[in-house]
Amino acid sequence: MRRAVEFYGFKPNRSGYICCPFHSEKTPSLKIYPDGWWCFGCNSGGDVIDFVGRLMNLNYLDSCKQINSDFSLGLEIGGKRNCAAERKSRDKLRLEQIQRQEFAKWQTKTSRLLCEYHRVLYKFIQSGGTDNPQFFTALQNIGRVEYLIDELEREPNEFYRTCRKEVEEIRKSLTGLKS
Ligand SMILES: [Zn+2]
Repeated sequence: MRRAVEFYGFKPNRSGYICCPFHSEKTPSLKIYPDGWWCFGCNSGGDVIDFVGRLMNLNYLDSCKQINSDFSLGLEIGGKRNCAAERKSRDKLRLEQIQRQEFAKWQTKTSRLLCEYHRVLYKFIQSGGTDNPQFFTALQNIGRVEYLIDELEREPNEFYRTCRKEVEEIRKSLTGLKS
């Protein structure tokens, strides 16, 4: 606060008062504190940003920029901060895009897997053979697989949430059936 006051051409007296630039006076009544100021003549005060803003007729943000540049503080104000925010939201969008792509890949892969499983089960059923235990397993499971194929198409997100583990089980048993 004191550095700013002096920088902008004021000389606080020994008690830390200056002549108030915001009302006309001959005896100093604006007191400078370490973190702010108060004028006992016009009953107003604030921090260093308020002081510089009122002095130069700047809004809060522009006053910050003025101080930042006059004192070479090198702070990121306004523009640069917005850039950081924009970059962050761009990164977020890119991440969401990647997630969507990965999800689409998973959906395609799962759809193929279920269709293949369905084909295998259907083959067992077609081949008849009531002495083949796989015939009964196929009969038991094929309805469920048809349901899963429909659900994956209809509500992929919900499917991912609720049926992901079941799909992994199918993947394992399909590997077993093929070997
Ligand atoms: Zn005043």
